[in-house]
Formats: sequence, C-alpha cells, structure tokens
Amino acid sequence: MTNQSTEPRTENSSIPPLSLDIGPFWELRKGSGPLIGVALHAGHNLRSEIVPLLVIDEETRFREEDPYSDYWTPVCGTQILTLRSRFEVDLNRSRDQAVYQTPADSWGVKIWSEPPSRSIVKSSLAEHDRFYAMLKRELNEIQQRSGHFVILDFHSYNHRRQGAASAPADPELNPEINIGTGSMKRENWSGVVDGFINTLGSADFLGRKLDVRENVNFKGRYLAQFVHHHFPDHGCVLAIEVKKFFMDEWSGLADTRQVVALREIFRLGATEINNQLGSR
Ligand SMILES: [Zn+2]
Repeated sequence: MTNQSTEPRTENSSIPPLSLDIGPFWELRKGSGPLIGVALHAGHNLRSEIVPLLVIDEETRFREEDPYSDYWTPVCGTQILTLRSRFEVDLNRSRDQAVYQTPADSWGVKIWSEPPSRSIVKSSLAEHDRFYAMLKRELNEIQQRSGHFVILDFHSYNHRRQGAASAPADPELNPEINIGTGSMKRENWSGVVDGFINTLGSADFLGRKLDVRENVNFKGRYLAQFVHHHFPDHGCVLAIEVKKFFMDEWSGLADTRQVVALREIFRLGATEINNQLGSR
C-alpha cells in the first residue's frame, strides 16, 4: 500500500492495482526528531521482469505482505515506506536470505514457476544493498542531530492461516501487538521499551484494552539486528507486529475505525518514547 490518504481502503477490491516499474523501492520522508517509522513490508509493486516468473496469485501475495502497516508510520517525524513487494526482495531478512527460493522460505507458499535467474537475484539484492546504505546514512545523520534514535518497525501478521472461517491461532501465543526486542541491549532502553508497551496496553482502544506483549511470537529480524549491530548504544528498534484482528486477512478488507484507532494508540506510544528520551 502506498496510498497515503488518511482513510484506509475498505471497499470494492481491497488489493491495490499492480503497477510495474513505477518508481523506487522505497520512499524516505525526512522529518525532525529522533523517531523513525518504517513499513518494510507494506509495498506491493514488482519489477516487470519478475512478474512472468511468479505462480503465487496476487491475493496470496497481498495476504503475505503487511497491508496497512504504512498507515501507522506518520506518528514518527521521519518515515520510510516501501513501494515494492517483499516477494521481490525481503528487506527484513539478511542478504543471503532476502530473495525467497523455496516454499520453506515463504510460509510454504510456492512463489516461482522457474527459479529467478542470477541476474534477477543480483538486481534484487542491489536494492537490498542500496536500502541499507541509505538507512545507515540517515541514521548517522539523525544520531548526530539528536544523539540517539528509536525506530518503530511496523508489521502486520496473519492468525487465520487455515482459512477465513477457521479458528484463529491461540491468542495466548499470539498477542494483538507483539513488540520484538530480541537483538537490542535492552538494559539501555528499558525506559523506552517498558514505557511504550505500558502505554499501548493501558490506552483506551475503542472501549477496551489491547493485549500487548514482548517477544512472544516475534523477536524482530534483520532491520533490528542491523541497527543494533551498527548503532549498539544510540539506536533502538521496536519491531511491532500487529495481529490482523483489525482486518479480514483473507479478503484484505480492513476495519477503518480500528486502523485509525491503532494509529492513535501508536501516537500515544511515540509521545511516551519522546518523554523517555528527553529524560535520559
Ligand atoms: Zn512484516
């Protein structure tokens, strides 16, 4: 999704029209302050050379991307949105795993009618290289300006993998919001992490409280690992996995009220992070 209107798409075809070679892999929106909102898996477009090789249908592909996660990034001063699909190259995996090869790399889903050629893989990995070079440059700049930074790394995840009418995955093991902090020096960021989780979990969400927990089913992947490796003392990534309770993961349709209410909850969380950073 790259549509940046304030209302998520909720009627007619939920799947954005496919555009080929329409532009860059990502969009960087520079802003002020130490917070960066990232939606690594919100992109849906593909390079045209990839399309004929795919057997995965577009609905399945959309279901495995992270629709609507880009709507939450504006709670941060700086935003980085992807415009192309994780099925071209997955920016949240290390370089050697970033182009899916077998169904085991992609939830058992068969992707290719024939394996992508070396030159296609090379072009896809070049996007990965360019993305991380850009990210490092931007983060250096923000660190110099602000002293430190926090990335809100937004994702959404499926919980009815057996079908639309199937029982959802066990809620005990699948929080509504999972905050992954697996690769950070947590003791350096405990105020930020605890403040963020407590704010999200105690805020009013359309008359109820959300189930927000840490490292239950996700711990954060390559983006978090990369940042914590290169900025061990000055950078913090909160990998935010939102269960698709706010949408029908099979039709792709979202409940606008809940998508917007989630953004307001994240806005409260961002304010709390700024307070925590200010008192360091
Ligand atoms: Zn994701």
